[in-house]
Amino acid sequence: MLKSLLAAAGIFIVFTVVAQPCGTPQAPLLERTDANKKTMVEVQRGVQKYIPMTFHLVANDAGSGRVTEEAILSQVANINAQYGDQEALFYIDRFNYFDNDAVYDSPRSFAANTQMRLRKDNNSINVFVVNSIESTGPGQTLAYYDPQEDWLVSRKGQINGVSSTLAHEAGHFFSLAHPFSGWDCNPFNIPPYTNPVEVTFTIPCDGGGGSSLIELHDRSNCNTAGDHICDTPEDYNLGLFWQNDCAENNSVKDINGEVIKPMTNNFMSYYTNCATYQFSPTQKNLINTDFFTFKRSYIRTGVIPNTTPVTDPVNYISPINGEDAGGFSNILLDWEDTPGANKYLVIYDRFMSFTFNPKKAIVTSSEYLITDALSEDVTYYWKVWPYNESQTDAGYSATQSFKASTGTAVNDIREITGYTLSPNPVRGLGKATLALSSTKDFDAVIELTSATGQRLSSQQVNITAGISQHEIATSDLTAGLYFIILHSSHGRLVERMLIID
Ligand SMILES: [Zn+2]
Repeated sequence: MLKSLLAAAGIFIVFTVVAQPCGTPQAPLLERTDANKKTMVEVQRGVQKYIPMTFHLVANDAGSGRVTEEAILSQVANINAQYGDQEALFYIDRFNYFDNDAVYDSPRSFAANTQMRLRKDNNSINVFVVNSIESTGPGQTLAYYDPQEDWLVSRKGQINGVSSTLAHEAGHFFSLAHPFSGWDCNPFNIPPYTNPVEVTFTIPCDGGGGSSLIELHDRSNCNTAGDHICDTPEDYNLGLFWQNDCAENNSVKDINGEVIKPMTNNFMSYYTNCATYQFSPTQKNLINTDFFTFKRSYIRTGVIPNTTPVTDPVNYISPINGEDAGGFSNILLDWEDTPGANKYLVIYDRFMSFTFNPKKAIVTSSEYLITDALSEDVTYYWKVWPYNESQTDAGYSATQSFKASTGTAVNDIREITGYTLSPNPVRGLGKATLALSSTKDFDAVIELTSATGQRLSSQQVNITAGISQHEIATSDLTAGLYFIILHSSHGRLVERMLIID
């Protein structure tokens, strides 16, 4: 009894998850396909299409649940591999972060659309990555292209390094319809259809327009049936209910009694578990044609993104190998410039798994200053993902570690009752000032050393009773950690100084 209940529940789940994976209306796409067919511009070797994308990382009102930057970087690498054979290169125009419950869970609502229009970028494809999407039919909508607003919306679970969902929706953006257009709401099944299919028009969709001409295996109506594209064969949307895999059809027949042969591994169809997916040659030419239309001129910005591959792992400088970071605040994470990279995703956390309370940042130079106060005597972990706007597949380099300590600042000079070094960190000012409060006059030496103790400069100073100020030249110093040491016959004072670019 339990087993059969579970089996029934299983069937129900499969049905609801798979149905209507894409919520894109087809009629406007068919119109554009027809127009583009008349002015077809074939993909030409060396004529590169640079396609900017703005990713909107949407969280709920509380600021949580947002898609990760890692997922988007993996997704950009993924879609570039999927479109790699059609002189098309997607690149990240920017990440836009915002928090809104309506967009997060009901992006089709009026309230959501108002918010999305306010944030829409005018010179790139807008991809709103959300938590869930209202379904227009039975089951769960994973993503859609909105022809009216001209933006893409995807559940965050579909944004990753293996999914073909964004490649499919980008196909819609560039005018492609489903090869099974007309079968969207009522995929082939018995009933409501028979085998062979005995009708010439599909069952109309609830609210989805009239019925569509059914494409035949003999290709006699391929220009006006299905997706109106002749090298994508007849497709009765078998992938949704009739079969659960990528296999060739050997049973379902058209009205002439001929077995239909859908291209099951087409990006624009719904067949699951295909090893790889493809666009047909005509689909590629139509994407190319659409890119060069007036309608798409707003994304043809003339900007040529950085296309240098980013393949080298990050060469870390400090702090690494569990070393003492010399303090617990103003810790500078430092690494060498990675060839090709102009951005770095940095993450640090107390857990090596980066699951405790990970903090992330995207920086444009090869360093990151942790301004938060860390917990003393705790080991922290950090790693860096180097990338540029179009080359995002390097992934994180090896994890590094350091220990946040109570710091090395010492003062055993009884006469010095207070001191400050400012600014600290020092950024591009060329000097820092050590201010001392002393109870009497005495002579001393101020020494500047590297983090490893190498003396870089020293100066004789006279400390006067009351407040005295002493300048320390920093203009020759590269980014990193240094020590200011005040020596006298009365004792020693050590303060750490951080130089950042
Ligand atoms: Zn679709």
